[in-house]
Amino acid sequence: MTTHTSVPQIGHLIGGQLSVADLRDAYDPGRLNEVVARVAVGTAEDVDRAVHAAHRAFPGWRDTPVAERVQKLLAAAELLAGSSEELAPLLVREHGGVLWEAQTDFALGAGALQHMVSLAEEFLRPVQFDDEQSFVSVEKVPRGVAAAIVPWNMPVVLTMMKLAPALVTGNTLVLKPSPFAPAALTLVLHKIAATLPPGVLNVVHGEGDVGAALCGHPLVRKVAFTGGTATGQKVVEATVPTLKNVTLELGGNDPAIVLDDADFDAALDRMLKGVYTRTGQICFAVKRVYVPRGRYQQFADAMCDRVNSYAVGHGLDPEASFGPLNNEAQFKKVLNLLDRTRNSSATLVELGRKLDPSSWDNGYYMLPHVVRDIEHTAPLSCEEQFGPVVPLIAYDNEEQVIAWANDSDYGLGSSVWTTDPDRGLAMARRIEAGSTFINTHSFESLDLRMPFGGVKQSGIGREFGAIGLSAYVEEHAIRRLK
Ligand code: NAD
Repeated sequence: MTTHTSVPQIGHLIGGQLSVADLRDAYDPGRLNEVVARVAVGTAEDVDRAVHAAHRAFPGWRDTPVAERVQKLLAAAELLAGSSEELAPLLVREHGGVLWEAQTDFALGAGALQHMVSLAEEFLRPVQFDDEQSFVSVEKVPRGVAAAIVPWNMPVVLTMMKLAPALVTGNTLVLKPSPFAPAALTLVLHKIAATLPPGVLNVVHGEGDVGAALCGHPLVRKVAFTGGTATGQKVVEATVPTLKNVTLELGGNDPAIVLDDADFDAALDRMLKGVYTRTGQICFAVKRVYVPRGRYQQFADAMCDRVNSYAVGHGLDPEASFGPLNNEAQFKKVLNLLDRTRNSSATLVELGRKLDPSSWDNGYYMLPHVVRDIEHTAPLSCEEQFGPVVPLIAYDNEEQVIAWANDSDYGLGSSVWTTDPDRGLAMARRIEAGSTFINTHSFESLDLRMPFGGVKQSGIGREFGAIGLSAYVEEHAIRRLK
């Protein structure tokens, strides 16, 4: 029986007005009979209204002094941090994470917003030259209406990584959340939008057709997308007729390379946070682990021992190490990879325990798996699993492991594990990736001073820092002859 007890209604926000037409139920992935929210499903007409609202608000926001934009957005960061207590439990119930993961999403989001906004005044200062022949001023101007499209896994921080640079540089924004985690994000965005002029921040809900309409809209001058690689390709296609700037943060298949001198206990303490946090559903999660053949059994045994202590259950259960997968398609994708692995020479080890066995089938629950003795070429080693399942691959020498790490269409994160800092740095420099971490590889590895993004089919462009701001401005060069 489906339960509906007084759930929030999540509408579009267009030009400062809420509209709640055509609501659909959103379910808890850990209690499939529970409706968490009723969420609007938009159309291309809603997108058009939102883009026009953003377009009308643009001149006023562009001409607002940057110091005032900074103040408003710093206040928004406080509002965001202060909303975590109220909204993180709702986020847990819609995206399936455990409570501290949802709280971390809010905290990282507030930190990212504050950090990027505080860089803006210096970044936006014009670069000028004045000599006997001429005066030159190179000015950074906003592009206009920006569109942001985000996934469900860490919706708050992934939104703030786009909202902050877009709005502080003077653009207006239309955001499309994922239908798999729309509610908590939208409620906090409503609060933030109420502190800004109407139309500066707009939200339209819906599926891929709404995202595509947003990407293709002629008045949208910038698209910032985070999601899967196949969807990123569709985003680019939709923007071709109106040629707009696009930033893509896409999938990954991050390698973790354990060197023969690594301290396994210390490495596993940190590495496992990068494997199973958010049920493995993080773009730069550790998705394949390479271990030197001579120490393989020792590493695999130590890893299995630790993972066996995990307990899986609903995200609001304080005992849960991690929660269910987010949606049926994702659940089936991981099950399919497991099935394909079962029919190979690899050994699939299922570990951990079920917190509430009687409710296990009422959610997309999966125990943690470690896959031993698997080949580098196996589907589970080559494809992004996005689940609590990790392949452990034995390698023979450094040349081989570097070749295998780079033998991927992806190139998002990566890591090297060693007690020798120079060796770690030398190996890191040989990996094709947007980021390489040494002796760390999880959400704890992020440093706001590091640009974030991927190479190859993991994306185009970078978020954070001055390079993140630069994706939202055009350089306008002015020269006066004397
Ligand atoms: P997804 O690509 O299915 O969806 C992402 C967003 O795109 C959603 O809002 C969706 O509704 C929208 N969308 C779907 N079709 C569209 C279209 N044709 N045009 C425009 N928008 C469209 O991804 P997901 O399942 O929500 O998220 C998981 C994927 O996201 C994984 O591959 C993961 O690695 C990736 N991801 C990447 C990063 C990063 O920073 N690189 C961060 C988080 C997640």
